[in-house]
Amino acid sequence: MSEGKLIVFSAPSGSGKTTIVRHLLKHQELKLDFSISATSREPRGNEVDGQDYYFLSLKDFKQKIKNDEFLEWEEVYRDNFYGTLKSEVERIWNKGKHVIFDIDVVGGLDIKNIYPDRTLAVFVKPPSIEELKIRLKKRKTESDDKINMRVAKASIELATAPQFDFIIENNHLGTALKEAYSLVSNYVGAEKPEE
Ligand code: 5GP
Repeated sequence: MSEGKLIVFSAPSGSGKTTIVRHLLKHQELKLDFSISATSREPRGNEVDGQDYYFLSLKDFKQKIKNDEFLEWEEVYRDNFYGTLKSEVERIWNKGKHVIFDIDVVGGLDIKNIYPDRTLAVFVKPPSIEELKIRLKKRKTESDDKINMRVAKASIELATAPQFDFIIENNHLGTALKEAYSLVSNYVGAEKPEE
């Protein structure tokens, strides 16, 4: 599908972007499909291979980098690689759908740079760094060390917000979801408005 678009949601980990992306995916009229990233990190909680991520060994991930199989990739945390496989975008466009990404800010901006004319890049801003820390702790999926690592990275990520097409402040989830729906439906030209 030549007119397939790319919708990027980027934010510091714990900002609520995954919740927003899942919400949008429920709306069939938006014709979205989720870009399943590849990662070398271990699966967390109930995560399923081929659904949440393609979980690869570090060795396999590096081999795919060598083979030029990634549209973008990044070592988001030490030895934790994440990336978008070119085949993933093709898979979704071939189905006649638009691709929606839940990826980190550097990856998000890379996609925007690769496809400037067909990408909507949205930054999801948490209310504050303190609130972000509370949310990550509540999630109970990571050690304190890992949480601190994510929080430290969040401050740097927040500085990139102005480079995105839009910023959604996730102070109130219901409002953030409506705002996200409206941005995306305008961008893809979906006909049916949300009730
Ligand atoms: P998590 O480990 O919490 O699932 O993800 C850590 C970070 O990596 C998040 O900010 C997530 O959005 C980002 N990420 C996930 N997939 C990709 C990807 O394909 N490329 C890049 N650059 N970052 C990604």
